[in-house]
Amino acid sequence: MDVTLDREFLKKGTVDKFPNQPGLVAMTKVALDRLSKNPDGFFLMVEGSSIDKMSHPLDWDRAVYETIEFDQAIGVAREFQKAHPDTLIVVTGDHTHGVSIIGTVDDEKPGTEMREKVGTYAEAGFPNYKDENGDGYPDKVDVSRRLFLSANNGPDHYETFRPKLDGPFVPAVQNEKKEYVANEQYKDVPGAVFVQGNLPKTSESGVHAVDDVVLQSAGPGSEEFHGYMEQSDVYRVLADTFALGAKQTN
Ligand SMILES: [Zn+2]
Repeated sequence: MDVTLDREFLKKGTVDKFPNQPGLVAMTKVALDRLSKNPDGFFLMVEGSSIDKMSHPLDWDRAVYETIEFDQAIGVAREFQKAHPDTLIVVTGDHTHGVSIIGTVDDEKPGTEMREKVGTYAEAGFPNYKDENGDGYPDKVDVSRRLFLSANNGPDHYETFRPKLDGPFVPAVQNEKKEYVANEQYKDVPGAVFVQGNLPKTSESGVHAVDDVVLQSAGPGSEEFHGYMEQSDVYRVLADTFALGAKQTN
């Protein structure tokens, strides 16, 4: 399936062939509609999986658009919860990636060296994305002052400091020795710089990180989520909320 940026905005990937691919918001609505017919309640897991799938190839613009879509899917769940207050919503990640927003890239800054156009701290200012149609997404991804995200791991690749408008980023490709090397396709993008990888040459993409993840929740049982928790204890709270334990006989 194509990701949101390709499906809804750039019309790249397989959109021509499969123009009716549903997004996470539509799928969440349908799933809630069906499952809520069960008088015994239901469990629904909605995964914004392409946040991860676009973070692997270091395609931050696509990962961010997927995050907006995931946020909107949570909005659907929140609306459902308003009408059905006996609903527990838990939002979390199963892992992180070694990536952070560190500032902006501003094309208006002088010179041709793209790294000189990176603004950090107060220098970063605000990106100039606009959302004039109010759909929650930037109307245009390739604005002149955009978010700059940077990864702490990856294969050899070219950093272009720009969104990839022709489809998801392919940072590295295999050479004749089956090693992943920087994809020359991006070499001539104006201002692109070579970034030396720090992973084995068998790695075609960035990898997951072991940072703690944020968990947010609302609804009955949510008061059980607090402080630092082991991942397996999240399941325990869900099981308790569902009253899944064996029936007590005495
Ligand atoms: Zn992954």
